[in-house]
Amino acid sequence: MNWSIKIARLRGIDIYIHFSFLLIVAWVGLTRYLQKGDVNEGLYGVLFVVAVFGMVVLHELGHALAAQWYGIGTKDITLYLIGGVARLERIPENPKQELVVALAGPMVNVVLAIIFYLILAGVPNLEVLTHVESVGSQLLAELFWVNVSLVLFNMIPAFPMDGGRVLRALLAMFLPHARATQIAAGLGQALAFGLGFWGLMSGSPVPIFIAFFVWMAAGQEAYQVNLKNALAGVPVSDAMITRYQTVSPGQPVRDVVDLILTGFQQDFPVISNGQVVGMLTRSDVVEHVKSAGESVSVESAMTHEYCSADPFDTLEQAFFRLQESKCRSMPVVHRGKLVGLLTPENVGEFMMLRDAIARR
Ligand SMILES: [Zn+2]
Repeated sequence: MNWSIKIARLRGIDIYIHFSFLLIVAWVGLTRYLQKGDVNEGLYGVLFVVAVFGMVVLHELGHALAAQWYGIGTKDITLYLIGGVARLERIPENPKQELVVALAGPMVNVVLAIIFYLILAGVPNLEVLTHVESVGSQLLAELFWVNVSLVLFNMIPAFPMDGGRVLRALLAMFLPHARATQIAAGLGQALAFGLGFWGLMSGSPVPIFIAFFVWMAAGQEAYQVNLKNALAGVPVSDAMITRYQTVSPGQPVRDVVDLILTGFQQDFPVISNGQVVGMLTRSDVVEHVKSAGESVSVESAMTHEYCSADPFDTLEQAFFRLQESKCRSMPVVHRGKLVGLLTPENVGEFMMLRDAIARR
Protein backbone atom coordinates (compact mmCIF):
# COMPACT_ATOMS: atom_id res chain seq x y z
CA MET A 1 0.00 0.00 0.00
CA ASN A 2 1.38 3.39 -0.93
CA TRP A 3 -1.00 5.46 1.22
CA SER A 4 -2.65 7.24 -1.72
CA ILE A 5 -6.31 7.37 -2.75
CA LYS A 6 -7.34 7.91 -6.36
CA ILE A 7 -9.83 10.76 -6.59
CA ALA A 8 -10.15 11.54 -10.28
CA ARG A 9 -8.96 10.82 -13.81
CA LEU A 10 -8.53 13.67 -16.26
CA ARG A 11 -7.38 13.26 -19.86
CA GLY A 12 -5.92 9.87 -19.04
CA ILE A 13 -4.06 11.14 -15.94
CA ASP A 14 -4.92 9.60 -12.55
CA ILE A 15 -5.04 12.03 -9.65
CA TYR A 16 -4.24 10.72 -6.16
CA ILE A 17 -4.28 12.25 -2.69
CA HIS A 18 -1.69 11.01 -0.26
CA PHE A 19 -2.77 10.23 3.28
CA SER A 20 -0.50 13.07 4.56
CA PHE A 21 -2.63 15.59 2.66
CA LEU A 22 -5.77 14.38 4.46
CA LEU A 23 -3.91 14.87 7.74
CA ILE A 24 -3.36 18.54 6.97
CA VAL A 25 -7.08 18.97 6.11
CA ALA A 26 -8.07 17.49 9.46
CA TRP A 27 -5.37 19.43 11.31
CA VAL A 28 -6.37 22.83 9.86
CA GLY A 29 -10.10 22.16 10.45
CA LEU A 30 -9.49 21.07 14.02
CA THR A 31 -7.06 23.82 15.07
CA ARG A 32 -9.33 26.49 13.57
CA TYR A 33 -12.31 25.04 15.44
CA LEU A 34 -10.36 24.88 18.71
CA GLN A 35 -8.98 28.41 18.32
CA LYS A 36 -12.31 30.08 17.52
CA GLY A 37 -14.62 27.66 19.33
CA ASP A 38 -16.98 27.65 16.35
CA VAL A 39 -17.87 24.66 14.14
CA ASN A 40 -18.39 26.96 11.15
CA GLU A 41 -14.85 28.26 11.52
CA GLY A 42 -13.60 24.69 11.51
CA LEU A 43 -15.61 23.93 8.36
CA TYR A 44 -14.29 27.09 6.75
CA GLY A 45 -10.77 25.82 7.46
CA VAL A 46 -11.58 22.52 5.74
CA LEU A 47 -13.18 24.32 2.78
CA PHE A 48 -10.11 26.52 2.49
CA VAL A 49 -7.65 23.62 2.44
CA VAL A 50 -9.78 21.74 -0.10
CA ALA A 51 -9.84 24.85 -2.29
CA VAL A 52 -6.05 25.18 -2.01
CA PHE A 53 -5.85 21.53 -2.97
CA GLY A 54 -7.88 22.39 -6.11
CA MET A 55 -5.41 25.16 -6.98
CA VAL A 56 -2.48 22.77 -6.59
CA VAL A 57 -4.17 20.14 -8.79
CA LEU A 58 -4.76 22.76 -11.49
CA HIS A 59 -1.10 23.83 -11.19
CA GLU A 60 0.07 20.25 -11.70
CA LEU A 61 -2.38 19.76 -14.57
CA GLY A 62 -0.76 22.83 -16.15
CA HIS A 63 2.57 20.96 -16.21
CA ALA A 64 0.95 17.71 -17.33
CA LEU A 65 -1.00 19.23 -20.22
CA ALA A 66 2.00 21.26 -21.41
CA ALA A 67 4.02 18.01 -21.40
CA GLN A 68 1.21 16.24 -23.29
CA TRP A 69 1.47 18.98 -25.91
CA TYR A 70 5.05 17.79 -26.55
CA GLY A 71 4.00 14.14 -26.57
CA ILE A 72 5.20 13.39 -23.03
CA GLY A 73 2.75 11.41 -20.91
CA THR A 74 2.13 11.81 -17.18
CA LYS A 75 1.98 8.69 -15.02
CA ASP A 76 -0.04 10.34 -12.28
CA ILE A 77 -0.50 13.42 -10.12
CA THR A 78 -0.25 12.96 -6.35
CA LEU A 79 -0.88 15.51 -3.62
CA TYR A 80 1.37 15.21 -0.60
CA LEU A 81 1.62 17.21 2.58
CA ILE A 82 4.35 19.33 1.01
CA GLY A 83 2.58 19.92 -2.32
CA GLY A 84 1.65 18.28 -5.58
CA VAL A 85 3.83 16.17 -7.83
CA ALA A 86 3.07 15.41 -11.49
CA ARG A 87 5.17 12.39 -12.44
CA LEU A 88 6.04 13.01 -16.06
CA GLU A 89 7.30 10.04 -18.07
CA ARG A 90 10.43 12.06 -18.72
CA ILE A 91 11.71 15.60 -18.39
CA PRO A 92 12.04 17.15 -21.83
CA GLU A 93 15.70 17.65 -22.73
CA ASN A 94 14.96 20.34 -25.25
CA PRO A 95 15.45 23.52 -23.14
CA LYS A 96 12.57 25.36 -24.80
CA GLN A 97 10.18 22.49 -24.03
CA GLU A 98 11.40 22.19 -20.45
CA LEU A 99 10.93 25.94 -20.01
CA VAL A 100 7.33 25.80 -21.28
CA VAL A 101 6.47 22.73 -19.15
CA ALA A 102 8.04 24.26 -16.02
CA LEU A 103 6.30 27.61 -16.53
CA ALA A 104 2.90 26.08 -17.33
CA GLY A 105 2.22 25.27 -13.63
CA PRO A 106 2.87 28.74 -12.16
CA MET A 107 1.09 30.32 -15.17
CA VAL A 108 -2.10 28.50 -14.10
CA ASN A 109 -1.84 30.23 -10.70
CA VAL A 110 -1.20 33.61 -12.35
CA VAL A 111 -4.39 33.15 -14.39
CA LEU A 112 -6.35 32.01 -11.30
CA ALA A 113 -5.09 34.99 -9.29
CA ILE A 114 -6.21 37.35 -12.05
CA ILE A 115 -9.64 35.67 -12.23
CA PHE A 116 -10.17 35.90 -8.44
CA TYR A 117 -8.99 39.47 -8.48
CA LEU A 118 -11.41 40.43 -11.24
CA ILE A 119 -14.35 38.65 -9.55
CA LEU A 120 -13.61 40.35 -6.25
CA ALA A 121 -12.96 43.76 -7.62
CA GLY A 122 -15.40 43.98 -10.45
CA VAL A 123 -13.22 46.85 -11.36
CA PRO A 124 -9.58 46.78 -10.27
CA ASN A 125 -9.45 48.19 -6.75
CA LEU A 126 -6.77 46.92 -4.39
CA GLU A 127 -8.71 47.71 -1.23
CA VAL A 128 -11.04 44.72 -1.68
CA LEU A 129 -8.12 42.41 -1.06
CA THR A 130 -7.68 43.64 2.47
CA HIS A 131 -11.25 44.66 3.33
CA VAL A 132 -13.66 41.81 2.84
CA GLU A 133 -17.10 41.24 4.28
CA SER A 134 -18.88 38.00 3.30
CA VAL A 135 -17.47 34.50 3.76
CA GLY A 136 -17.51 34.00 -0.02
CA SER A 137 -15.41 37.05 -0.71
CA GLN A 138 -13.15 36.24 2.23
CA LEU A 139 -12.45 32.85 0.66
CA LEU A 140 -11.85 34.41 -2.76
CA ALA A 141 -9.47 36.99 -1.29
CA GLU A 142 -7.54 34.30 0.58
CA LEU A 143 -7.36 32.16 -2.53
CA PHE A 144 -6.05 35.15 -4.45
CA TRP A 145 -3.16 35.34 -1.98
CA VAL A 146 -2.70 31.57 -2.08
CA ASN A 147 -2.17 31.76 -5.84
CA VAL A 148 0.23 34.68 -5.51
CA SER A 149 2.21 32.71 -2.90
CA LEU A 150 2.16 29.57 -5.06
CA VAL A 151 3.67 31.54 -7.94
CA LEU A 152 6.35 33.13 -5.74
CA PHE A 153 7.22 29.88 -3.95
CA ASN A 154 7.37 27.81 -7.12
CA MET A 155 9.52 30.33 -8.93
CA ILE A 156 12.31 30.10 -6.31
CA PRO A 157 15.22 29.09 -8.57
CA ALA A 158 16.03 25.75 -6.91
CA PHE A 159 15.11 22.13 -7.62
CA PRO A 160 12.55 20.66 -7.01
CA MET A 161 10.68 23.95 -7.46
CA ASP A 162 9.64 24.94 -10.96
CA GLY A 163 12.02 27.91 -10.76
CA GLY A 164 14.92 25.43 -10.65
CA ARG A 165 13.76 23.89 -13.93
CA VAL A 166 13.18 27.32 -15.48
CA LEU A 167 16.74 28.31 -14.52
CA ARG A 168 18.19 25.05 -15.88
CA ALA A 169 16.25 25.43 -19.13
CA LEU A 170 17.44 29.03 -19.56
CA LEU A 171 21.08 28.04 -18.87
CA ALA A 172 20.78 25.01 -21.16
CA MET A 173 20.01 27.33 -24.07
CA PHE A 174 23.68 28.44 -23.91
CA LEU A 175 25.42 25.59 -22.05
CA PRO A 176 25.48 21.78 -22.25
CA HIS A 177 22.57 20.18 -20.36
CA ALA A 178 24.79 18.60 -17.69
CA ARG A 179 26.65 21.86 -16.97
CA ALA A 180 23.35 23.77 -16.79
CA THR A 181 22.04 21.21 -14.30
CA GLN A 182 25.19 21.45 -12.18
CA ILE A 183 24.88 25.23 -11.93
CA ALA A 184 21.14 25.13 -11.19
CA ALA A 185 21.62 22.38 -8.58
CA GLY A 186 24.54 24.25 -6.99
CA LEU A 187 22.49 27.42 -6.70
CA GLY A 188 19.59 25.39 -5.25
CA GLN A 189 21.88 23.90 -2.60
CA ALA A 190 23.31 27.32 -1.76
CA LEU A 191 19.76 28.63 -1.30
CA ALA A 192 18.88 25.59 0.82
CA PHE A 193 21.97 26.19 2.95
CA GLY A 194 20.97 29.82 3.51
CA LEU A 195 17.39 28.86 4.32
CA GLY A 196 18.49 26.13 6.73
CA PHE A 197 20.91 28.50 8.44
CA TRP A 198 18.19 31.11 8.82
CA GLY A 199 15.85 28.44 10.22
CA LEU A 200 18.47 27.40 12.78
CA MET A 201 19.17 31.01 13.80
CA SER A 202 15.50 31.89 14.18
CA GLY A 203 14.70 28.52 15.78
CA SER A 204 11.84 27.72 13.38
CA PRO A 205 11.60 24.15 12.08
CA VAL A 206 9.66 24.82 8.84
CA PRO A 207 12.53 26.51 6.91
CA ILE A 208 14.92 23.77 8.07
CA PHE A 209 12.46 21.16 6.83
CA ILE A 210 12.10 22.86 3.42
CA ALA A 211 15.87 23.42 3.19
CA PHE A 212 16.44 19.72 3.74
CA PHE A 213 14.05 18.82 0.89
CA VAL A 214 15.55 21.39 -1.48
CA TRP A 215 19.08 20.19 -0.67
CA MET A 216 18.18 16.56 -1.34
CA ALA A 217 16.24 17.33 -4.52
CA ALA A 218 19.07 19.42 -5.98
CA GLY A 219 21.59 16.66 -5.26
CA GLN A 220 19.27 14.04 -6.74
CA GLU A 221 18.71 16.05 -9.93
CA ALA A 222 22.45 16.58 -10.45
CA TYR A 223 23.12 12.90 -9.73
CA GLN A 224 20.51 11.69 -12.24
CA VAL A 225 21.82 13.93 -15.00
CA ASN A 226 25.47 12.98 -14.32
CA LEU A 227 24.48 9.34 -14.32
CA LYS A 228 22.60 9.69 -17.60
CA ASN A 229 25.63 11.37 -19.16
CA ALA A 230 28.05 8.78 -17.86
CA LEU A 231 25.91 5.85 -19.01
CA ALA A 232 24.96 7.17 -22.45
CA GLY A 233 26.56 5.26 -25.29
CA VAL A 234 28.06 2.51 -23.08
CA PRO A 235 26.79 -0.97 -24.02
CA VAL A 236 25.29 -3.17 -21.30
CA SER A 237 27.90 -5.84 -22.11
CA ASP A 238 30.65 -3.56 -20.68
CA ALA A 239 29.11 -3.45 -17.21
CA MET A 240 27.17 -6.68 -16.77
CA ILE A 241 28.19 -9.46 -14.39
CA THR A 242 29.23 -12.59 -16.25
CA ARG A 243 29.91 -14.85 -13.27
CA TYR A 244 26.67 -15.76 -11.54
CA GLN A 245 24.59 -18.74 -10.48
CA THR A 246 21.39 -19.86 -12.15
CA VAL A 247 18.74 -22.23 -10.81
CA SER A 248 16.20 -24.55 -12.43
CA PRO A 249 12.43 -24.54 -11.85
CA GLY A 250 12.35 -27.99 -10.26
CA GLN A 251 14.97 -27.29 -7.56
CA PRO A 252 13.78 -26.78 -3.99
CA VAL A 253 14.16 -23.26 -2.58
CA ARG A 254 16.47 -24.79 0.07
CA ASP A 255 19.26 -24.92 -2.57
CA VAL A 256 18.83 -21.21 -3.21
CA VAL A 257 18.99 -20.43 0.51
CA ASP A 258 22.45 -22.07 0.48
CA LEU A 259 23.48 -20.06 -2.57
CA ILE A 260 22.38 -16.79 -0.92
CA LEU A 261 24.23 -17.61 2.29
CA THR A 262 27.47 -18.67 0.60
CA GLY A 263 27.72 -15.94 -2.06
CA PHE A 264 27.01 -12.31 -2.89
CA GLN A 265 24.20 -12.92 -5.37
CA GLN A 266 20.71 -11.94 -4.29
CA ASP A 267 18.57 -12.67 -7.35
CA PHE A 268 18.78 -15.78 -9.49
CA PRO A 269 17.74 -16.29 -13.11
CA VAL A 270 15.61 -19.43 -13.47
CA ILE A 271 16.65 -21.40 -16.54
CA SER A 272 14.67 -24.13 -18.29
CA ASN A 273 15.88 -25.67 -21.60
CA GLY A 274 18.46 -22.91 -21.93
CA GLN A 275 15.84 -20.14 -21.67
CA VAL A 276 15.16 -17.66 -18.86
CA VAL A 277 11.69 -18.49 -17.53
CA GLY A 278 11.67 -16.34 -14.39
CA MET A 279 13.65 -14.60 -11.68
CA LEU A 280 13.91 -15.73 -8.09
CA THR A 281 14.66 -12.79 -5.82
CA ARG A 282 15.91 -12.92 -2.26
CA SER A 283 12.61 -11.50 -1.02
CA ASP A 284 10.69 -14.22 -2.94
CA VAL A 285 12.83 -16.81 -1.19
CA VAL A 286 12.29 -15.29 2.27
CA GLU A 287 8.55 -14.96 1.69
CA HIS A 288 8.11 -18.55 0.48
CA VAL A 289 10.34 -20.08 3.13
CA LYS A 290 8.24 -18.28 5.74
CA SER A 291 4.90 -19.40 4.34
CA ALA A 292 5.62 -22.83 2.82
CA GLY A 293 8.99 -24.02 4.08
CA GLU A 294 12.29 -24.75 2.35
CA SER A 295 11.03 -27.65 0.23
CA VAL A 296 8.82 -25.46 -1.97
CA SER A 297 9.98 -25.48 -5.62
CA VAL A 298 11.77 -22.63 -7.33
CA GLU A 299 9.01 -22.63 -9.95
CA SER A 300 6.29 -21.77 -7.45
CA ALA A 301 8.39 -19.08 -5.74
CA MET A 302 9.84 -17.30 -8.78
CA THR A 303 8.45 -14.16 -10.36
CA HIS A 304 7.52 -13.75 -14.01
CA GLU A 305 7.51 -9.96 -13.73
CA TYR A 306 11.03 -8.95 -14.62
CA CYS A 307 12.55 -6.91 -17.36
CA SER A 308 15.54 -7.94 -19.42
CA ALA A 309 18.17 -6.23 -21.52
CA ASP A 310 20.19 -7.02 -24.61
CA PRO A 311 24.01 -6.76 -24.28
CA PHE A 312 23.95 -4.15 -27.06
CA ASP A 313 21.37 -1.90 -25.34
CA THR A 314 22.92 1.24 -23.89
CA LEU A 315 23.50 1.20 -20.16
CA GLU A 316 21.45 4.38 -19.93
CA GLN A 317 18.28 2.69 -21.28
CA ALA A 318 18.82 -0.48 -19.29
CA PHE A 319 19.62 1.25 -16.01
CA PHE A 320 16.60 3.54 -16.11
CA ARG A 321 14.39 0.54 -16.94
CA LEU A 322 15.91 -1.27 -13.97
CA GLN A 323 15.18 1.70 -11.67
CA GLU A 324 11.56 1.84 -12.85
CA SER A 325 10.89 -1.87 -12.46
CA LYS A 326 10.27 -3.83 -9.29
CA CYS A 327 13.11 -6.29 -9.84
CA ARG A 328 16.58 -5.55 -8.52
CA SER A 329 18.48 -7.60 -11.07
CA MET A 330 18.05 -7.74 -14.80
CA PRO A 331 18.92 -10.79 -16.89
CA VAL A 332 20.88 -9.83 -20.01
CA VAL A 333 19.68 -12.02 -22.85
CA HIS A 334 21.04 -12.35 -26.38
CA ARG A 335 19.27 -14.49 -29.01
CA GLY A 336 17.26 -16.18 -26.28
CA LYS A 337 20.36 -17.10 -24.24
CA LEU A 338 21.30 -15.66 -20.85
CA VAL A 339 24.68 -13.92 -21.15
CA GLY A 340 24.83 -11.76 -18.02
CA LEU A 341 23.16 -10.00 -15.10
CA LEU A 342 22.83 -6.30 -14.41
CA THR A 343 22.29 -4.88 -10.91
CA PRO A 344 22.30 -1.29 -9.60
CA GLU A 345 25.37 -2.13 -7.47
CA ASN A 346 27.42 -3.37 -10.37
CA VAL A 347 26.42 -0.35 -12.50
CA GLY A 348 27.60 1.80 -9.57
CA GLU A 349 30.90 -0.13 -9.42
CA PHE A 350 31.34 0.22 -13.16
CA MET A 351 30.88 4.00 -12.92
CA MET A 352 33.27 4.29 -10.00
CA LEU A 353 36.01 2.33 -11.74
CA ARG A 354 35.56 4.11 -15.04
CA ASP A 355 35.76 7.42 -13.21
CA ALA A 356 38.95 6.32 -11.41
CA ILE A 357 40.55 5.22 -14.70
CA ALA A 358 39.53 8.48 -16.39
CA ARG A 359 41.07 10.52 -13.56
CA ARG A 360 44.38 8.74 -14.00
ZN1 LIG B 1 4.96 23.18 -10.48
